[in-house]
Amino acid sequence: MNEEILNNITDIQERINNACINSNRNPDEVKLLLATKTVPAERIKIALQAGHTLIAENKVQELKEKYEILKEIPHTNHFIGHLQTNKIKDLLKYNVSCIQSLDRLDLAEKLHQRLQFENNTIEVLIQVNTSFEESKFGVSPDNAIELVKQVAQLETLKIKGLMTIGLFSAEIEKVRKCFRLLKDIQQQIIALNISNVEMQELSMGMSGDMETAIEEGATIIRVGTAIFGQRVYPDSYYWNEK
Ligand SMILES: *Cc1c(COP(=O)(O)O)cnc(C)c1O
Repeated sequence: MNEEILNNITDIQERINNACINSNRNPDEVKLLLATKTVPAERIKIALQAGHTLIAENKVQELKEKYEILKEIPHTNHFIGHLQTNKIKDLLKYNVSCIQSLDRLDLAEKLHQRLQFENNTIEVLIQVNTSFEESKFGVSPDNAIELVKQVAQLETLKIKGLMTIGLFSAEIEKVRKCFRLLKDIQQQIIALNISNVEMQELSMGMSGDMETAIEEGATIIRVGTAIFGQRVYPDSYYWNEK
């Protein structure tokens, strides 16, 4: 069981390397984030102990449940799920360094208020709905730049880049379009040179489409299933507001 997780990570690193070779990129530019939703803390620990220390949860409840067990091993926590404003206070207790799923102004404002109160800051990525699927969260591509400008005014939020979930499709060119769109929006934002905005991170690509994402410029890939195995819950459970 333990070995399986580590073997899977080795396979993923191989896939990262190959995708980098194909696209003339340096593998050091691509960070592997472990998407740990539904994975018990004891299994996550195996990866952390082996030095794979960038992990992310989708739900505040799971973050909380695993926190005590994982905190003894140094690691970096991101948040990649749909965040409800009434969970902000709770989320900030668990040492999350980056919220990758910031997708609307009211959430940004409430986060800012709370962070001001705590005299703290947090890194964020702006989540963009590049697949135009209604079931997915994220600001629409047309409104992404405006949201970045607005969030940039909130000095407790440090924008580091963009995040997206590609279209779920076997047609790789349709998936590629999503990643290209994210890269294109990133380039437009860089050209605007907005203060308090950094754009170095592009979080895109999952178990099924990581090669394409890397070819299109991903700096963070988020991998769950290919490392920890199939989940019991369908992903819609995690991507719906409940
Ligand atoms: C679950 C999840 C992932 C990982 O998906 P896999 O297909 O299991 O690799 C990546 N990003 C987000 C936002 C997720 O919810």
